Amino acid sequence: MIVDDEPINIDVVQVFLEENGYTKFITVDDSTQALATIEKSKPDLLLLDLMMPDVSGFDILTAVRSHPKFSHLPIIILTAATDSENKLKALDLGATDFLAKPLDQSELGLRVRNNLAAKAYQDQLAFYDPLTKLPNRQLFLEELSWSLGSAKRHKDEVAILHIEIDKFNKINDTIGINAGDEILRQVAQRIEKVIRGTDLLSHSGGYGNIELKLFHLDRGVFSLLLARMESAENAAIVAERILRKVKEPMQVGDREIVLTSSIGLTTYPVESDDPLDLLRLASSAKDYAKKQGGDRFLFSSQTISEMYGKRLRLETNLRRAINDEEFVLYYQPKVNVTTGSIMGVEALVRWNSPDGFVSPADFIPLAEETGLIVPLGEWILKESCQQLKRWHQLENIPINLSYNLSAVQLADPNFVARAENIIVGSGIDTQYLTIEMTESLLIDNVDHKIDLLHSLKKLGVKLSIDDFGTGYSSFSYLRRLPVDELKIDRSFVSEITTHREGRALISSIIFLARSLHLETVAEGIEKKEELKFLQQQRCSQFQGFLFSPAISPDKLTALYNSKK
Ligand code: C2E
Ligand code: MG
Ligand code: MG
Repeated sequence: MIVDDEPINIDVVQVFLEENGYTKFITVDDSTQALATIEKSKPDLLLLDLMMPDVSGFDILTAVRSHPKFSHLPIIILTAATDSENKLKALDLGATDFLAKPLDQSELGLRVRNNLAAKAYQDQLAFYDPLTKLPNRQLFLEELSWSLGSAKRHKDEVAILHIEIDKFNKINDTIGINAGDEILRQVAQRIEKVIRGTDLLSHSGGYGNIELKLFHLDRGVFSLLLARMESAENAAIVAERILRKVKEPMQVGDREIVLTSSIGLTTYPVESDDPLDLLRLASSAKDYAKKQGGDRFLFSSQTISEMYGKRLRLETNLRRAINDEEFVLYYQPKVNVTTGSIMGVEALVRWNSPDGFVSPADFIPLAEETGLIVPLGEWILKESCQQLKRWHQLENIPINLSYNLSAVQLADPNFVARAENIIVGSGIDTQYLTIEMTESLLIDNVDHKIDLLHSLKKLGVKLSIDDFGTGYSSFSYLRRLPVDELKIDRSFVSEITTHREGRALISSIIFLARSLHLETVAEGIEKKEELKFLQQQRCSQFQGFLFSPAISPDKLTALYNSKK
């Protein structure tokens, strides 16, 4: 941060420093604003002019040094004053360093670098725990207030997980403080591992943009801050995973030990919007979990507890439903844009649970998180291949079938072998089968995924990218993928009649697809005008309520025959 009443002086300092590679500057030419700006933007270094009207550099120096948060902020005085009296006075008031005007660029670069290095070292000591390298309580409180402010603006949720290793003091006493240190390091690493795993899951639609940060508040007590959550129950899933991870046997020196932990969980805005209040709630929930014997997590309130209970029931029901075959497949026609005839169908799963109909948008993400998508996905593949065979051989209906593949299925190392078993075993003509996957499924580990896609292609099936346009695909990336079809996401289709941008996007996707010799399918067509636009753009196929929603196989047969 540079404070000088002459804007030209500020420019000189900034230009010099920019040439040295610095990029973030806060500049103030009205010295009455200096202190407020420091409090707001928390600079790492202050370059301060002494002679300024109204509020002088001396005044600012005095104020900063007596401020509880900035007493250690490095301050370099920039002054033309050659008299030692002013220098002495500034030193007395707590200046860290001096630079004489006119400035020498290399001298300036050197002083700035040294002062910043000293500041970084001090921050490390003041805000980080040397043992685990994690940020401490003070940073936690700052980060929490910041997250709450941001959550208020964006209307999302924040959760705090207070995590304490059970009987940690006893361990310290019996196997020694060094072993205790080692345990803390390992537990910190394990929690970090869970956090990174959660991050990966967010791509498959499980957690949204959730942000997780770990702190070490006291010896043996960690706090995990979860920000940007769409729903508080996700915090419970993370808590569950931490409990499980901490419990895995741990090698400490030549012993193997098993630890458990207790977790208290609280959320904004459900519980409170005050940081200290939230801290207290999380901490007492954690203590209560310990009192009940540890190795568990507790919510600080009934409300979230109920939300989580609902999710647990859904999960239990989902497990049971796979055994009880409560699922049925419906089929939505894929229609030729020009001729209007049915070219194929997309299999969409439906769950008739005893508690009523559950939408796939609700249970597919849950099935992915719990891994249940693997058996469920296999059942869907088997069932839809059998249906395809019936249509081909019994009804003489030569349509294609599209199957939705989840990222979690593809991550299973046995996936290709098992899919091959089912597909080849069903006896269908494989060129009639298309496997749909979303772009996010291909986001990481790309080369390996491309290998997998090639092994699928060897079976003779076609590949399609679902919800195209919502992910990150670039032209060069697409060219590397052995795909046959792009499905244009419904969100663009719904803009056809309202936004020029939506139309432009669709035209360019179709153009792109054609240049790569790919088929295009538009999803979610509800209006005649939308279909008309697709006809003009020479899109190949469409799906949508305008023609038909997903329907039972019998109805599909009848519909097909009526259009013949
Ligand atoms: P998706 O694969 O993009 O499927 C299209 C969704 O859009 C379906 O919702 C379909 O019913 C709906 N839809 C079709 N036409 C229209 C329309 O004109 N207007 C509107 N508003 N919606 C339309 P559904 O069946 O609820 O499925 C939602 C998502 O759940 C699917 O998106 C897919 O990601 C997943 N899903 C459904 N079935 C399966 C499955 O068998 N396996 C896997 N892994 N995922 C599935
Ligand atoms: Mg689909
Ligand atoms: Mg789709």
